[in-house]
Amino acid sequence: MKRYFRGKWMYTANARDEVMENFILVEEDGKITDIRPDDGKIPPEGEVIDVRDYYLIPGLIDCHVHFFIGPDCAAFPQSSCRIADMICEGAANAEKLYKAGIVACRDLGAVGGYTLGLRDAINRGIVRGPKILACGHAICVTGGHGHELCYEIDGADRMRQAVHQTIKDGADVIKLMASGGVNSPGPEPGPCELTAAEVKAGIETAHSMGRKVAAHAHGETAMRLCIEAGVDSIEHGVFMTEAIMEQMIAKDVFLVPTLCAPYYAVTEGIRREPDNPDHKKSQEILERHRQVLKRCSEKGVKIAMGTDAGCPFNPYEKAAHEIVLMVRAGLSPQAALKAATAGGAELMGLDDLGALETGRRATFICLKENPFEQIETVDQIAKLYADGQSVCLD
Ligand SMILES: [Zn+2]
Repeated sequence: MKRYFRGKWMYTANARDEVMENFILVEEDGKITDIRPDDGKIPPEGEVIDVRDYYLIPGLIDCHVHFFIGPDCAAFPQSSCRIADMICEGAANAEKLYKAGIVACRDLGAVGGYTLGLRDAINRGIVRGPKILACGHAICVTGGHGHELCYEIDGADRMRQAVHQTIKDGADVIKLMASGGVNSPGPEPGPCELTAAEVKAGIETAHSMGRKVAAHAHGETAMRLCIEAGVDSIEHGVFMTEAIMEQMIAKDVFLVPTLCAPYYAVTEGIRREPDNPDHKKSQEILERHRQVLKRCSEKGVKIAMGTDAGCPFNPYEKAAHEIVLMVRAGLSPQAALKAATAGGAELMGLDDLGALETGRRATFICLKENPFEQIETVDQIAKLYADGQSVCLD
């Protein structure tokens, strides 16, 4: 049966990046079959859903989350009881993210690679959550950044083996930990941890198997090695320089900023752990991250939204707040919403989400206010429709 959504305002995020006013969106079998001006003509047998009280945007896409991580589960759990607990918590995390309006996401590193199973359970419909593309384990050098979530390698051959292993595990995407964290000791901020040979071997192997590569990289050396080797996205990119931005434009590489990570470290982290020096430093990192994002947007680097939800103090249920932070960093609401919809869909290779146009899924969010005028309205979504069906947000 067809459903006819009558609306007054919709940001389509389509190729023309349009807003449509006073429209009828026709949905059948979960897909959009037509969008046309509201001429009041609806066949009598059609179901009409009036969304004229709301402002519609496509369902959001978060290109950087971790469902199995967090203050007490950074290490592999030692008992079957704890493993079961952690897996249930991961499923609950996915539902929280979904209710925040995130309809698709990339999980870029999970303890035990557990997200691969969560992804499959969501695809089978037994757990409610966003569509997930996952890397399972990320890949780092022995003892490297985030090694609790990684296969640890040293040398190009071991890198190739680890990429093959993650693909054998079922990975959709490969995640490399190219640099340390913002506070890691080393010769430069965000020191490079992988060698040029390891980066090249990882990216070549992943691409030969049809998988994109996301690289955690904060420092210039790590970013440069990854971009030269053909990486698909730079994650975080806090210490990015103008020269790197130009390389990214030339090689069509996405930036996935994650402003929520330093933001929640500054707000919640300092409140809960006032003496932790890393949280105090996060203020500087947040400022730097904002400047890099603004500059990337001005120069024309492709941007896809990420949150790093699941990292300490970074809540799944507030993932959409990343859009507000992007606007506070200097992006227009439209540019931030594009990164959170069409940008993510392009990076993740999803041609059925990320925009509202004929042929795509009828998956969208209803907001109470016009997000172009009042971006904070994304913090509290009024309704979520997935494939034309209303999703319960309670
Ligand atoms: Zn991360």
